[in-house]
Amino acid sequence: MVSDRRTECICEANAGGSDLVQVTDLVKFFPVRGGVFQQVCKWVKAVDSVSFGIPAGRTLGLVGESGCGKTTVGRVALRLIPATRGQVIFEGNDVLRANKRQMKDIRRKMQIIFQDPHSSLDARMRVGDSIGLGLYVHGMRNASQRREVVREMLEKVGLEEYHADRYPNEFSGGQLQRIGIARVLALNPRFIVCDEPVSALDVSIQSQILNLLRDLQEEMELTYLFVAHNMSVVKHMSDRIAVMYLGKIVELASRDELFSKPTHPYTQALMSAIPVKHPRDPKDHPILSGDVPSPLKPPTGCHFHPRCRHVMERCREQEPEMREIGPDHQARCWLCSS
Ligand code: SF4
Repeated sequence: MVSDRRTECICEANAGGSDLVQVTDLVKFFPVRGGVFQQVCKWVKAVDSVSFGIPAGRTLGLVGESGCGKTTVGRVALRLIPATRGQVIFEGNDVLRANKRQMKDIRRKMQIIFQDPHSSLDARMRVGDSIGLGLYVHGMRNASQRREVVREMLEKVGLEEYHADRYPNEFSGGQLQRIGIARVLALNPRFIVCDEPVSALDVSIQSQILNLLRDLQEEMELTYLFVAHNMSVVKHMSDRIAVMYLGKIVELASRDELFSKPTHPYTQALMSAIPVKHPRDPKDHPILSGDVPSPLKPPTGCHFHPRCRHVMERCREQEPEMREIGPDHQARCWLCSS
C-alpha cells in the first residue's frame, strides 16, 4: 500500500510544468472597523503583491520578523482565509477560484503543518482517530483500512502503533508535532505549508523534526513552503529563500546566492542575527534596530527606510520595484537598481 501511494505521488509530481505551485500578485488586506456603525475605516495591508513559484519536490523558505505577513501568505495560498486578489495555481488549477468539488480534492493535496502542535490536535480524541479523520472525510469509510494507514504514518514519523490509542496530553511537544505531520501525510499531499513547525519546540528537538521533514520530502517528493523567522532554520531547509518585510518580498534568491551575496539591507540585517561560533567573532553586518512599523500606517517610499542605514532622500518618497540583480536573484532596493 505504501509503495502504491508513493508511486502515484511521484508520477503526478513529474507530470506538471516546472512549478508545482505558482503564486502571482497575491494580496490580502484586512479591514479595520470603527465608529458607531463599525464601518471600515482602514485597511491593514498584510500581504501586498507577493509572487513566487515552487518546483515540485523543492522548498521555498519564507523568512521575516513577526508580523511581516509570511504566515498570512501560506494561509491565503491554501485558501484557509480568502484573498483580496491575486492568483494561486496548483497543478494547473486556479485555487482561489475553484468550486466546492474541486476544492475538496485540492485541499487533500495542499496541507499545512501548524506551529503549535498542542492546539492543532483535539485533546478529546485519540491520536489515531485524529490522524484517520481526514481519511474518513475524503472517502475512506473502511475502519480497518484507516487503521492500517494510521499505523503506516505513525511509523513514518518515528512513532509506534500503540501510540494511536493515546490522547494528546500523553505526548511531549516533539511527539505531538510528529503526530501533526502524520495527520497531514495520511492524506498523501503534494504541497505542504510548514508554518513555523519548530518554533514552539525545545532546541534539542528542533533538529530532529527538521531532519524528519527533509527525509519525508525526499521519500514522498513533497513540495514545501517553509515559513520561519530563524535564518539558520530556513537555510537548513530551503532551496530558494524569499525575505519578507511589511507584507512584501524584498529579496528572492537561491539559498547559496542569498547567503553568499545578501543584497537588501534588511536581508543583511537578518543575517547578523545568526549566532557566530564565538562571541568575539566579528559580525559581517550591523544588528537591526527598531521595530517593524505598523502595517496600518506603513512608511512612505521604501517601507524599510526608517530602519535602513543606507537610506537616501529618494527612499523616503519613492518605493522601489522588485528587480533582477543577478541569475535567479531579485531585490527591492534603490541601491540595487540605480
Ligand atoms: Fe534602504 Fe533605500 Fe534600499 Fe530601502 S531602498 S532598503 S531605504 S537603501
